[in-house]
Amino acid sequence: MKSIINQAYDPQHFNQAGLQVIESLTSAFKKAQTLPIPHTIQFELPEDQLAFWQNDLDNREDTNLLNLLENVMAKSINLHSRGYLGHQVPPTLPVTILTSAIIAYLNNGMAVYEMGMAGNAMEKLVIAWLAKHFGFGEEASGLVTSGGSLGNLTALVAARNYYCFQHPQVKADELAIMVSEEAHYSISRAFTVMGIPLENVIKIPVTDQFNIDITQLETLYANAQSKHVFCIIGCACSTATGAYDNLAAIADFANKHQIWFHVDGAHGAPAIFSPSYAHLLNGIERANSIIVDFHKMMMVPSLSTALIFRDKKLSRYTFTQNAQYLWDDSQSDEWYNSGKQTFECTKPMTILHTYAIMKIYGDRIYQENIEHLYGQAKIFAGLLKDTGKFELACEPQANIVCYRFTEGKGDLDELNRQILKRTLDKGNFYIVSTTIGGQVYLRSSIMNPMVTQSDLKELIGSIITITQEMDK
Ligand SMILES: *Cc1c(COP(=O)(O)O)cnc(C)c1O
Repeated sequence: MKSIINQAYDPQHFNQAGLQVIESLTSAFKKAQTLPIPHTIQFELPEDQLAFWQNDLDNREDTNLLNLLENVMAKSINLHSRGYLGHQVPPTLPVTILTSAIIAYLNNGMAVYEMGMAGNAMEKLVIAWLAKHFGFGEEASGLVTSGGSLGNLTALVAARNYYCFQHPQVKADELAIMVSEEAHYSISRAFTVMGIPLENVIKIPVTDQFNIDITQLETLYANAQSKHVFCIIGCACSTATGAYDNLAAIADFANKHQIWFHVDGAHGAPAIFSPSYAHLLNGIERANSIIVDFHKMMMVPSLSTALIFRDKKLSRYTFTQNAQYLWDDSQSDEWYNSGKQTFECTKPMTILHTYAIMKIYGDRIYQENIEHLYGQAKIFAGLLKDTGKFELACEPQANIVCYRFTEGKGDLDELNRQILKRTLDKGNFYIVSTTIGGQVYLRSSIMNPMVTQSDLKELIGSIITITQEMDK
C-alpha cells in the first residue's frame, strides 16, 4: 500500500482536487454576481455549529475535499454576496485567491533574507509606491505586518523609542498619547502591551461629524503637563462611522510640539488613489508613520498591512535591539533583512497579493473601487433619508453608513436590535450594529464593488418589511 504521505503529495491527486475546488468557486462567483442576491448567512447558534462539525469530524469515511468545501461555505458568511453589508472586510479580489495558493506553496517565511528573497524585494517596491502616493520622499521606508493592530503597535513602539532615546529620564508611566475618542481599540491595547497606563491615553472629543475637535488640542495638551505626550494619532478614517480627522491641523499641532504624528489609515487611507476623495487625507504627507490595511479597501485576504515611515531613520526605532545601530548613519539600512523591524519572526509572504494586483491592474482598480464604494454609501444614505423612516448618525464620508429606524413606538434601541436580529435570521442580508452616543444604530460597510443601487434598495425594503411583520 502507498504511504499516506506519498498519497498526500501525489501531483495527480493535487491536480484533481484543485480543479474541483476552482470549478466550485467559479460557480459561487457566478451566483454572487447575478440575481436574485444569493443567501448571505445561514445563522446558527454556536452549539449547533459545534454539533455539526463534531458529526462531520466523526465521519472519517468522507475524505472528499469538495464535500468539505461545500459544507464550510454553507456554514460561513458569504462575503461575495451583494447582501453582505456588514463589517469592513472585502470580498477578496479573485486573483488573490490564486495568489493565496502560490503563497501557501512557497511558504517562504520572510524573517531572514534567503527565506524571503522575492517577498522582501516586493515589500520594498510596494511600500515605495504607496509612500509616493502619500507624498513622502525617497527617504521613506516601511514594512508589512500581519494586520493593522500589529501595525499600530509597531508604529507606537517606534514613536515611544524615538522619544525616549532623546529623553532618557522619562519613565513609562509618564508617557502619554493623544487620540480621538473614536479611535480603534487597537491603540489602547497597544498601550497596554507597551506597559503604559491606559489613563495616559488622552481621548480627544469629536464633533457632531465624529472627527476630532481640533479646537481642544492645545487645552488637552496643556492639561497633561505632568505627562510626556510623545505622539498624536489621526484617524483616516474612524472604524465606527468612517469619519476622517483633520490631518493638516494635527500635523501643525505635532510640529509645534515636536511630537510624533501617526495616521491610522487602516480603512480609509486608500482614498489617496481617487482624485475625488484624496482631499480627505490632506496633511497625511506630514505624518511620521501611516498604516494601511491591504485587507480592507485594497481587496486582499486577511491579514496584510503596510506600515510606512516618512523617514527610514525612524523605522530603526521599532525593534532594533542594538542602540548603536540607531545613530550609526553609516550602517546600511539592510532593507532586505526585514525581520529586524518586525515583531513577527515567520511571516507569510502576503505582499504577493498586492504586488500582483498592482502589476496586473494598476492604480486604476483602487481608484474605481474607492469611488464606487464611497459613492454607493452616499446613494444609500440618500435612499434611507428618502423613506422618511430612518435617521443617519452623520453623512457618510467613506463607505460606512450608520442609520436607525425611527418610525415606531416605544424603545427605538430595542426596535433596531430586533431589526438586526430578524435580518440575521432571514439571512438574505448581513448588517451589523454599533452604539453611538448611547443609541443603537444599524451599520453597513459597503465593501463589494459589485453592489448596485437596486441591491441597496432591496436591503431597505427588507428592513421595512421586517418592521411591518413585527407590528402584526
Ligand atoms: C480595522 C482597523 C484596525 C485594526 O486592523 P486589523 O487589521 O483588524 O488588526 C485599526 N484601525 C482602524 C481604523 C481599523 O479600521
